[in-house]
Amino acid sequence: MPFKRNVYERAIYKEPAPIRDHENPFESMKERFDVAARILELNPGFYEYLVTPTRIHITAIPVVMDNGLIKMFEGYRVIHNEILGPSKGGIRYAPDINLDEVKALAAWMTWKCAIVGVPFGGAKGGVICNPREMSEGELERLTRRYTANLIDVFGPDKDIPAPDMNTNAQIMAWILDTYSMHTRNTSTAVVTGKPTELGGSLGRVEATGRGVMDVTLAAMEQLNLNANECTVAVQGFGNVGSVAAKLLAQQGCKVVAVSDVTGGYYNANGLDIDQLISYIRSNKGTLENYTEAEHISNEELLTLDVDVLVPAAKEDQITSKNAGDIRAKIIAEGANGPTTTRADEILKENGVLVIPDILANAGGVTVSYFEWVQDRMGYFWTLERVNKRLDRMMRAAFDDVYAVSRKHDVTMRIGAYVLAVGKVADALRMRGIYA
Ligand code: NAD
Repeated sequence: MPFKRNVYERAIYKEPAPIRDHENPFESMKERFDVAARILELNPGFYEYLVTPTRIHITAIPVVMDNGLIKMFEGYRVIHNEILGPSKGGIRYAPDINLDEVKALAAWMTWKCAIVGVPFGGAKGGVICNPREMSEGELERLTRRYTANLIDVFGPDKDIPAPDMNTNAQIMAWILDTYSMHTRNTSTAVVTGKPTELGGSLGRVEATGRGVMDVTLAAMEQLNLNANECTVAVQGFGNVGSVAAKLLAQQGCKVVAVSDVTGGYYNANGLDIDQLISYIRSNKGTLENYTEAEHISNEELLTLDVDVLVPAAKEDQITSKNAGDIRAKIIAEGANGPTTTRADEILKENGVLVIPDILANAGGVTVSYFEWVQDRMGYFWTLERVNKRLDRMMRAAFDDVYAVSRKHDVTMRIGAYVLAVGKVADALRMRGIYA
């Protein structure tokens, strides 16, 4: 009996799954999925179906480097699920990517799309490379060959990539062009997060940070906190963190600390976020040597006495080692997977309201959906319209997740999984199994 050995069976027989502090990201996703599956009383067949990626593509990418030598790179594209629609998800370029990470990120995309109610499945891509050590020409050749290798995978009705860590609008433009050259027609809806000149949406760049702001304000309301009286610390000052910091400051919050790879910067009277954003623009994208704040470590930033903590850098930042020291009342997960399952338990015991990644950072895919809709209509919206619809959808998603978590007396993370897995399972039930 194969089911006897799997995690779902452990859940059915009430054997607690081992709580981990690792994380293998895919295992971490599965642990949360298991709890949701148990609450939903998902049948074992559905469990296996929904946890298993539909397709995994691994591709070898030869690139002629600037020195004339050929270098081989390994690329991935994981389609986790297409039940609700074409699959959607970013592409990551980084030296330490592995398949389990891409599988987890693809699954999280499935759940995110279901939570905010956009008609997409989940996917994610990655290439093992160090973009900081590559010239623009090398990156372009890598991107075009990766796209050409996956030409039958991508498509506006099949699988739609977007930017993620170390990929950007320019890289999306190269994917669009390569795909269009192969299909012999200009297909703007094949990627999102592209330049506005090529059919990108206004507001896409800020969308994830804006969504973080939306759900943070909603959480403050639940806790009867007034934005004007709240202090905030933000880990990671890239796309998500800098926009979240700026917008929360605009809402009246006092952002007292931000950080990046060079460490943390603290000012009890509040940081000037616009000035910090100008600073990184003129300082190769980092906060290094910023003098108008006290220099603190990233570890110190996480445990500051603030109302809101926004982890917006990378995975596994809040673990069993520091979760007990966290003093924030709200954690809004801008990053994917910043909190381990062990840390979740500690935060729950301590009454910290964690707005989980699959809800908190879903603003990006929501505006990606708007972009795809606009490309297909050939009619583009104003920034005001994009932001208004985003705010409305993020707020509704927060309320839905909050209600489910209250109903089942679980954390918002488990509530988010219950909502998402339940929606995808309902759609699967209606579609049935094609034989
Ligand atoms: P980014 O590359 O623009 O910024 C990352 C920031 O984190 C940089 O400031 C970097 O210096 C900092 N950082 C890296 N390691 C750090 C460390 N150890 N301590 C402190 N800071 C560190 O990336 P991004 O697009 O802002 O993405 C950040 C996170 O948000 C990732 O987990 C990503 O998957 C997730 N996310 C991004 C989007 C999006 O639309 N960009 C959407 C959903 C989720």
